[in-house]
Amino acid sequence: MNSVTVQVPAKVNLQLAVGAVRPDGYHELVSVFHAVSLYDEVTVTRADELVVTVEGENADDVPVDRSNLAARAVALLADRLGQSPDVHVHLRKGIPVAGGMAGGSADAAAALVACDTLWRGNTPRDMLRRLGAELGSDVPFSDLGGTAIGTGRGERLAAVPTVGVYHWVFALADGGLSTPAVYGECDRLREAAGTPVPDPAPSESLIAALRAGDVPALGATLTNDLQDAAISLRPSLRATLDAGLAGGALGGIVSGSGPTCAFLAADEAGARTVARALAASGTCRTTRVAFGQVGGARVVPQRLRS
Ligand code: ATP
Repeated sequence: MNSVTVQVPAKVNLQLAVGAVRPDGYHELVSVFHAVSLYDEVTVTRADELVVTVEGENADDVPVDRSNLAARAVALLADRLGQSPDVHVHLRKGIPVAGGMAGGSADAAAALVACDTLWRGNTPRDMLRRLGAELGSDVPFSDLGGTAIGTGRGERLAAVPTVGVYHWVFALADGGLSTPAVYGECDRLREAAGTPVPDPAPSESLIAALRAGDVPALGATLTNDLQDAAISLRPSLRATLDAGLAGGALGGIVSGSGPTCAFLAADEAGARTVARALAASGTCRTTRVAFGQVGGARVVPQRLRS
């Protein structure tokens, strides 16, 4: 075996509750992650040294040095396995870059699975997730997929029983938003408002909607504590959210730290209608239609590779 390809999904946060800043500098979070059918593909091939190449929209915005999260994942696993990290990592990006959909985390999760397979490390999956958590809070969920509550920094996961298929429209913006900048703006807005920061807790109505497969109820319960901060840094997102809701979405939120906006539609035809309305409104760069929930990182069998 000379190369391994792993497909890994994007995430949207159905709920993102942001608590106080902890002594280690991270915020205490409750996040309901949901994996959707926008994918990156990560291929690792034996090589003379660790190199990264990237293809796809906005590939130029993705670093190809050792700061790339996939490269960091390769180096971390190589170190744990006492293995040389010499692989060519090729990223085929279908997840918007710096879009609040955990693209970098997804690539890290995929790189761990791909290299462990290539090197026949036989590392248990929960151990790979623990390694992933060292690289970023969203990495373990990218590996797990489905729908799950994340607590702590977001890295401690519990699967949420979910029925039904959820149809999503994503409005992609020009340029990204820096996740640390959005958290910083959230802190600044809270300090200016002077209100106490509540302890983050999972939304019972959201969990009930997922258990029942109740799409309108889910649409009505989507929440994101980072939304005001993302809009404060990118005021045009307000018009994007308004356009999606006017176009018939059952709910709309900024995805994670933004600037991608996520809209829940009643069904597949409804998603196409919302996407058309968003495109006509001129309030976003482009749209993507996707569905959830989908599984996490998985090796693509060689015969299915394009
Ligand atoms: P999150 O939702 O986890 O906060 P995001 O989806 O907003 O993240 P990413 O696509 O992960 O954002 O990119 C954030 C930054 O990380 C990019 O601007 C880029 O410089 C850097 N980065 C490092 N590795 C990667 C990677 N493999 N893919 C994309 N960006 C990467």
